[in-house]
Amino acid sequence: MLPWQQVAWDRIGDIERLPHALLLNGPPGIGKRLFAERLARRLVCERGTACGACRACRLATGGNHPDVMIVRPPEGKAEITVDDARTLNQFLMLTPHLATRRVVLVVDADRLNRSASNAILKTLEEPPAGSYLLLVSDAAARLLPTIRSRCQSLVLPRPTQEEGLAYLRTHELPDPAGLLALAHGAPLRALAWPQDAPAMALRLFASIEAVALGRDSALEATEAWAAIDLEMGLTFLTEIAAALTQAALTGTIARGWQGVQEGRLRALAARLDLEQMVGLWDEALETRGLLSAPLDRRLVWDRLFLHVEPRG
Ligand SMILES: [Zn+2]
Repeated sequence: MLPWQQVAWDRIGDIERLPHALLLNGPPGIGKRLFAERLARRLVCERGTACGACRACRLATGGNHPDVMIVRPPEGKAEITVDDARTLNQFLMLTPHLATRRVVLVVDADRLNRSASNAILKTLEEPPAGSYLLLVSDAAARLLPTIRSRCQSLVLPRPTQEEGLAYLRTHELPDPAGLLALAHGAPLRALAWPQDAPAMALRLFASIEAVALGRDSALEATEAWAAIDLEMGLTFLTEIAAALTQAALTGTIARGWQGVQEGRLRALAARLDLEQMVGLWDEALETRGLLSAPLDRRLVWDRLFLHVEPRG
């Protein structure tokens, strides 16, 4: 159990009174899916506790429990389609094999497309006896309002700085504090990155510097970055743009940039126009929202770097 989820877990209380549809939401990288998997285990556990030791728990942990189904967008696909939704509906209608309940966990539920959402709606309106639907999302606002209104919402918290750091320290990483700052306090997101992510973010900062100073063109900088994981790169860029804007507007230095990098951050913030920094920030955020669609990475990076090219 992730320590920062204990309160939310305890609040669930009597499993017999759990609603048939739950929407587990909160920021990315804080362990929502792990929480939902544990809850699914609890629903099928022979002791009703997610004990981890009974046959049901062992099967569920291995992804082999016949009464637990996990639905997620297929690899390389943006959406969960109506076929998946129909399979899910049928699964919930069957009598349980081993447990007394059947559970479907939908990962990235905000990526259910419209017809899939409509198909699930029927199940939400009249849930079959003993059926449970756990929707997990970090963009719950994108779910159809009719879906949202039929689920009980459970907002999972982001860990405190101390909790996040303590968790990352158990993984023997070279720079846990740097990683956590970069991942915006989301430890599981930080863990999914390469260990040298903080160094990589600094190299990205150096590329932005080089473009802003006119040493490199946006196109040259793009060559260096087009191959990296786009979601990770955009997260770094969002953090860099936010730190630059903060330094320019308030004179304060964001966590993770204090110390050695402070001078460079201040110098770059002084060099760029506010419009450039905010433009970079906006574009990075906006592009992150489009990640579920196929994107031309070169085009994305070129557009991003163009924001900081010297004017005139
Ligand atoms: Zn068990």
